[in-house]
Amino acid sequence: MVKKTVEDIEVSNKRVLVRVDFNVPQDKSSGEISDDARIQAALPTIQYLIDHQAKVILCSHLGRPKGEIKEELRLTRVGERLSRLLNKPVKCAPDCIGPEVEKLAEELKSSEVLLLENLRFHAQETKNDPEFARSLADLAEVYVNDAFGTAHRAHASTAGVAEYLPAVSGFLMEKEIRFLGKALADPARPFAMVVGGAKVADKIALLENIINKVDTLIIGGGMANTFLKAQGNDVGGSKVEDEQLDFARQLIEQANTKGKNILLPVDGVAADKLEPDAKHQVVNITECPPEWLLLDIGPRTIEQFKQALNPCKTIIWNGPMGVFEYSNFAEGTNTLATFIASLSATTIVGGGDSASAVKKLGLTDKFTHVSTGGGASLELLEGKTLPGISVLLDK
Ligand code: ADP
Ligand code: MG
Repeated sequence: MVKKTVEDIEVSNKRVLVRVDFNVPQDKSSGEISDDARIQAALPTIQYLIDHQAKVILCSHLGRPKGEIKEELRLTRVGERLSRLLNKPVKCAPDCIGPEVEKLAEELKSSEVLLLENLRFHAQETKNDPEFARSLADLAEVYVNDAFGTAHRAHASTAGVAEYLPAVSGFLMEKEIRFLGKALADPARPFAMVVGGAKVADKIALLENIINKVDTLIIGGGMANTFLKAQGNDVGGSKVEDEQLDFARQLIEQANTKGKNILLPVDGVAADKLEPDAKHQVVNITECPPEWLLLDIGPRTIEQFKQALNPCKTIIWNGPMGVFEYSNFAEGTNTLATFIASLSATTIVGGGDSASAVKKLGLTDKFTHVSTGGGASLELLEGKTLPGISVLLDK
């Protein structure tokens, strides 16, 4: 899965169309950008292109305008923020295709930056309409995809354009492919995966793929309850996905026959309701009070998980260990995140909520890699080929 990058193609004096992920969160009332991490993440590629005299044409989606022009979803504010971060002017186009945009692209000088308007103002974008893709491609001579967060979608700007232009990855995309791709294809061992989050159903494809690759599989979070029940434990009033009990049983069996180390919680934090200030106490996993919910892993579990992870050389973590949004049930997630971050192993976080837990702790830089794409990283972990990656030129 090694792909050509911006460094493998001539960009000097060329019009380069770059698909970035500028889908930033905005304050609902003021429209202000509340977190510019995604803009920051695209800067290395943009700066490289500026430094190498490319004519930079950026395109992105923002929100879900569903093929209509929505004033609050214009990229004007993004352009202003980008201009400030780059410390140079950024021209904003009134649309992403059409004669006026073509003229702006044509007039662009080397090292100048043009930001196209929200791609999803056109319904053809998400339909991967070939005509629309062609119009986008006609603006440029080279295509760069740096939007890992949308790489699992076959849209005009993520896949379609590559039919008409030489296509390479940006640095952010390259980093995602390198870390997640290598960890899955050729991990330093022992290799462990920590899986958590709310539902087994969300992670079936991931578990089916990953069980063949890891040495150790650790299961926590709400989904552990289904596995615990599958093993005959009474998990009180915790939510259990009864339709996944067979899957859970089979996965445990598969792990055992393949000689994999599989760990489930041995204790937990039980609460009388799913509220921040609920009554709560640490219980053995076999002793959850009736009607109570297991909302976090307990201290003995944390200790066992740490011991299993300690010798590992590659660790991928996807899904919080508890309801980390409430401080009473955040201990498992926080302690484990801090521990994993401290190890001298390749440590990777995939998944939107896990990434935000790590960010809240200020640990993002302590991991080898925190993936920027929730859905996209999940699909990579499921072993799928992502359309936004497969269209890029092989190295
Ligand atoms: P990610 O986005 O990292 O892939 P998920 O979306 O799969 O993670 O899961 C995150 C959600 O799982 C969080 O909102 C968290 O509150 C919830 N969760 C974790 N543990 C439990 C639990 N024991 N009971 C209920 N919900 C849980
Ligand atoms: Mg999530």
